[in-house]
Amino acid sequence: MIKFEQVSKTYPGGHKALEKVSFELANGELAFLTGHSGAGKSTLLKLVSVMERPSAGRVYINGVDLNTVSNRQVPFVRRDIGIIFQNHRLLERYSVFDNVALPLVIEGTHHKQITKRVHAALDKVGLLDKAKCHPSVLSGGEQQRVGIARAIVNSPPLLLADEPTGNLDPELSMEILNLFEEFNRRGTSVLIATHDLGLIARMKYRSFTLNQGRMLQDPLAEDTL
Ligand code: ADP
Ligand code: ADP
Repeated sequence: MIKFEQVSKTYPGGHKALEKVSFELANGELAFLTGHSGAGKSTLLKLVSVMERPSAGRVYINGVDLNTVSNRQVPFVRRDIGIIFQNHRLLERYSVFDNVALPLVIEGTHHKQITKRVHAALDKVGLLDKAKCHPSVLSGGEQQRVGIARAIVNSPPLLLADEPTGNLDPELSMEILNLFEEFNRRGTSVLIATHDLGLIARMKYRSFTLNQGRMLQDPLAEDTL
């Protein structure tokens, strides 16, 4: 689903955020991406979602070499990727329904389809009864679930999450992870960037670790690949 080959990213100004990173997330796999703050996790996710371009090396999504994707084609690549941020980035002036509907509205989906799919997405995250609310009246965990509903509303084959539990207590964090597991069971590939090692330890998934822009060898990789 995701393949990095010797990928480096140097930001303007010369900061090396990633150096010769190679790894693979299999189709249908759920895995974690860990490392200290500044290790390069967000940069890696931005290369996958083509918000940044690599300085060297190749990134493949579903077999497509992103170096061959022009800026005009980027929106089509992004349709296959649901992205979840730590600070959920919901639009406060819009209802929960309208926030979740946004990706479909942008795609030009017919309004009957929009209603159906938004309700299905809200149902999956357990927030059907909050569709008419504004995000500001929801709890932190509920707001994060709205962000997840928005990311999955067009059923993307790949979900990326950048510190999705960063602002949540352990119990709510587990709830969010259970949601990711459920999507994964239905076939969605999931990559979750987090520095919450406690959370990872309790789960059976592979984790990729970045240290100052370099990928550490995954001790489980030999067994699981
Ligand atoms: P993480 O998500 O693991 O905290 P990041 O990928 O955000 O790490 O950052 C990796 C390094 O790259 C950091 O030192 C950060 O300051 C730097 N960095 C990130 N984005 C930019 C940018 N747009 N311009 C310059 N440096 C950046
Ligand atoms: P997050 O931690 O939520 O991933 P950050 O606060 O690290 O986001 O970064 C916010 C934005 O600033 C990102 O677009 C990132 O690329 C950019 N950024 C991060 N570090 C730097 C930096 N050292 N110089 C310039 N831009 C940066």
